[in-house]
Amino acid sequence: MSFSSKVKSELRLIVPKDTHCLHAELMGFLAGGLESRPEEKLYEKNCCKRAFLRGVFLHNGTMTDPNEIYNLEMVFRHSWLANEVMRLLIQFEIPGKMTERKGRYVVYLRDGDDISDFLKVLGANASLLALEDIRVVKEVRNRVNRRVNCEAANIHKTAATSVRQIEDIRTIEAREGLESLPVPLQEIARLRMEYPEATLSELGDLLDPPVGKSGVNHRLRRLHEIAVGKEQET
Ligand SMILES: [Zn+2]
Repeated sequence: MSFSSKVKSELRLIVPKDTHCLHAELMGFLAGGLESRPEEKLYEKNCCKRAFLRGVFLHNGTMTDPNEIYNLEMVFRHSWLANEVMRLLIQFEIPGKMTERKGRYVVYLRDGDDISDFLKVLGANASLLALEDIRVVKEVRNRVNRRVNCEAANIHKTAATSVRQIEDIRTIEAREGLESLPVPLQEIARLRMEYPEATLSELGDLLDPPVGKSGVNHRLRRLHEIAVGKEQET
């Protein structure tokens, strides 16, 4: 069953206790067929406005599966009803939007919060909870994705740096040999070649005694200066 059908099944089970609400809901259900706003005031009270919107949604509304996108729409043949629904939404502090599509008037909500508020107004509490669950999962997934992307970027950066460092070391090795270097630089050069994927802290831990990240960075910078500096001399 689609999310839309689930919402509607839930709404169909809501039976207004009061006659005024019952009339309002029926009015909402049938309003789509009327060319202009009826004179009779059938939904003055707040409870009746909710009931009216419930009827309107049952007959004219659809909601896309929130796992895909947030989209709730009500499509009308006559503009008065679209305007009326917009007016009621504003009264419930829901910022609906309106557009024309193929000669129809469409009132829509594209924001998770707004759709959630609208389901609350309709009294679709089970659907509201289902929507909130989906929103939480989506939010967590987005946060994880952002973090994974960020980590991937860092790994990429580390790898690019490592490649440059290994080039420096190869340059020195080919030109004057690593033995020409002071022992601490020889050590870090050999470790870097052996563990190209290691981070600076990991390289530091492999040294005996261990050296901190900034110490490792300092040694690698010196290797770079030697590689570049001597190259410029020749
Ligand atoms: Zn009522």
